[in-house]
Amino acid sequence: MLKIDNLHATIADKPILKGLDLSVNAGEIHAIMGPNGAGKSTLGYVLGGRAGYEVTEGAVTFDGKDLLDMGADERAAAGLFLGFQYPVEIPGVSNVQFLRTALNAQRRARGDEEMSAGDFLRLSRAQADALGMSMDMMKRPVNVGFSGGEKKRNEMVQMGILDPKLAILDETDSGLDIDALRVVGDGINRIMRKPDKAVLLITHYQRLLEIVEPDFVHVLAAGRIVRSGGAELALELEREGYGAIAA
Ligand code: ADP
Ligand code: MG
Ligand code: MG
Repeated sequence: MLKIDNLHATIADKPILKGLDLSVNAGEIHAIMGPNGAGKSTLGYVLGGRAGYEVTEGAVTFDGKDLLDMGADERAAAGLFLGFQYPVEIPGVSNVQFLRTALNAQRRARGDEEMSAGDFLRLSRAQADALGMSMDMMKRPVNVGFSGGEKKRNEMVQMGILDPKLAILDETDSGLDIDALRVVGDGINRIMRKPDKAVLLITHYQRLLEIVEPDFVHVLAAGRIVRSGGAELALELEREGYGAIAA
């Protein structure tokens, strides 16, 4: 589904990614761990097509297509979802308006018809219910005044409604209490643990990986994947730290 070859990327002419290789197949959940400043968020932004990040070398294909050649909107329409470490607030736009606009833009780009208001209401209700979000919150401006935990739940509601093929979730577990962590982890499993979907889960903590069990764990250090393994690698990292591996 996703194939990254020798990816080099810079921000403001500063090299951040320095020859990163990674392959993700449908049905797989990959955890990306690694020290602060390693380039984990940069990887997410480069894959999402955020402005300001320049790819200087390497290739990325998504379902066989050149991802780097696609605009951010085309990437979303192709089924890529990016969950941010710090979800943005959008004053003046309600959650439901925002989601309906995003969903319909995605459908139009795929050549599908827009979803009817009734169907959209049913879909958003079902997803909000599953994440323990009230319809009152769905009608409030996107993330404005939401607590950290509510923003992360809302991100899962967005993911449930947009129903992506590949989700890249950057520190979705940061700032969550134990109960919210469970809700978010269960949400990732329910929405994304499917044979035709895949997840890149960027996280610092084993506790999310106890709920969302990764098929592979990678250590990203100084702009490259320096070690890969199974779920047991996360336990080893928690025990021993990055020092020995990332040095
Ligand atoms: P991680 O998510 O692994 O903690 P990041 O991808 O956020 O790491 O950052 C990687 C490096 O890129 C860091 O050294 C950071 O300071 C640098 N960086 C991130 N954004 C910018 C920017 N806008 N301008 C310059 N340097 C940046
Ligand atoms: Mg960081
Ligand atoms: Mg980061």
